[in-house]
Amino acid sequence: MSFRDFIKQMEERGEVLHVMDEVSPEFEVSAVMQSFSYNNAPIISFDNIRGYSGVKIVGNVCGTRRRLCMALGVSEEKLYDKIIEAVNKPMEPSITEDSPAKEVVEEPRLSKIPILRHFERDAGPYITSAVVSARSPDGRIENVSVHRLLVLSDNRLAIRLVPRHLFKLWSMAKEAGKDLDVAIAIGVHPAVLLAAASSPPLGVSEFGVANRLLNGNLKLVRCERVDAYAPADAEIILEARISRNELVPEGPFVDITGTYDAQRDQPVVEVVKVMRREKYFYHALLPGSPEHKLLMGLPREAAIYEAVSKVVPRVKAVNLTMGGCGWLHAVISIEKQVEGDSKNALLAAFAAHPSLKHAIVVDSDINIFNPEEVEWAIATRFQADEDLIVIRGARGSTLDPSANMETGLTTKVGLDATRPLKYPEERFERARIPISERILKIIEGLKRDKNQ
Ligand code: MN
Repeated sequence: MSFRDFIKQMEERGEVLHVMDEVSPEFEVSAVMQSFSYNNAPIISFDNIRGYSGVKIVGNVCGTRRRLCMALGVSEEKLYDKIIEAVNKPMEPSITEDSPAKEVVEEPRLSKIPILRHFERDAGPYITSAVVSARSPDGRIENVSVHRLLVLSDNRLAIRLVPRHLFKLWSMAKEAGKDLDVAIAIGVHPAVLLAAASSPPLGVSEFGVANRLLNGNLKLVRCERVDAYAPADAEIILEARISRNELVPEGPFVDITGTYDAQRDQPVVEVVKVMRREKYFYHALLPGSPEHKLLMGLPREAAIYEAVSKVVPRVKAVNLTMGGCGWLHAVISIEKQVEGDSKNALLAAFAAHPSLKHAIVVDSDINIFNPEEVEWAIATRFQADEDLIVIRGARGSTLDPSANMETGLTTKVGLDATRPLKYPEERFERARIPISERILKIIEGLKRDKNQ
C-alpha cells in the first residue's frame, strides 16, 4: 500500500512511460510533464535526472479517474460512496516502529532532493506533492493536508497556509508560545493524497480517512525529532517545525488555475531531520495538471454528490470540470422530480464546496463529461430570467484571479439547465434515428476500414 507498490502495479498494466534521456529538475521535467497534461495521459517516470543519481522522479501518477479508482480498488460508480464512507467513518491507523523511510536518516540538505522548478515566474523550486501532518499542542487534534512548499535554503521552506485546519493548529501553537511540529511526507499512496485533500470537520484526522480508504492498511511512524506522525512507507519524510512568528514572502507560484497566485507573507518551516528510502521516488505534481485537479477535486465531487443527494431524489453524476480548473466549475446531473429540485441542487452544491463559483445542473440524459452536451443542454433547456441564480459577495477561492484574491469574495452563478416540467417532455427530447442490428454492423465495418 505504498507509493512504489502502486507505481509497480501500474507498470504491470502498461500505464508508465519511461523517460531515459537526461533531464534537469529545473523547468525540463515540468516541460515534459506539461506536454502530457491531457486526459488519460500515462504516468511518467524520469529515470535519469541530471545531478541526482539513484533518484527517480515520477509524475502524473493520479492523472486519470481510472487510475484513482484502481488505487482505491473500486469501480467508477462506487468511487464517491467509497470516499463518503471514508470521510464519515474514519478508522485510526496503527503505529509502527519499523518504517522503510528510515533506511537513511540524515541532516537536511534540500538541495540533494530533485525539487522541481515548474513555471517561468515561480518564486523558486516548490515541493507540490507533500502531505503535511500536525497535532494540536494538547495532542488531541490531528490534521493532514497538502500544502505547497517553497525551498528557501537547505533546511528552510515557506509554507502556504490557507485559513483552514493546519492554519488553525498553527494559530493554537502560536497562542501557546510554540512552533508547530509537522511531518512532511513525499511519495505517499494516492489514497493518502486523496484523504489529505478531503475535508472532514476539524478534529477528524485525515489519516483515519486514508486508513479507511486503504481498508485498514495504513501504518504511521512517529518522527524522531518532532511530535508528528507520517505514513510509514513514504518515500521521504521531512521532520520540521512551522515557525510561530517568522514570515517570509511566498509566491508567486502557479496553482490549480494555471495562473500565478499572488505573493503573500507566509510562515517559515525549519526542517530538522530527513528520513528517506535509500533509492527513493520523488513524486512530482505539476500545478494545474489533470493530476492536481483530480486530487483536489475528487473529494469535493464526492462532497457535492452527498449534499445534493440529500435534497433531490437521485444524483447521477458530478463533474468538477477540467476547464473549470477541477475546482471552480461543477456540472451535476440529476433526476428532477418536481420544479425547484434543480435550484435546491445548486444551493446544496455551493454549500458543499465553498470554492465553487459556477454550477450547472442538467438532466440525467446529459453526459456531463462531454462539454458539448452540457453546452447543448444550456442552449436548449435554459432561460436566464428564470433559470439563473446570482449570489454576490460570497466566499470563494483565493486562487481565482478575477475574485478578490485577499478576501476570496466572489460572485457565484448557478445555471438550471434541466428541462422545465411545464412543457411536454417531447419538446426537449434528443432526437434519435431508429437503428437495426444490420445497420450497426455495417457502420462498425465502415469504421474499421477507415481506421486500417
Ligand atoms: Mn482537516
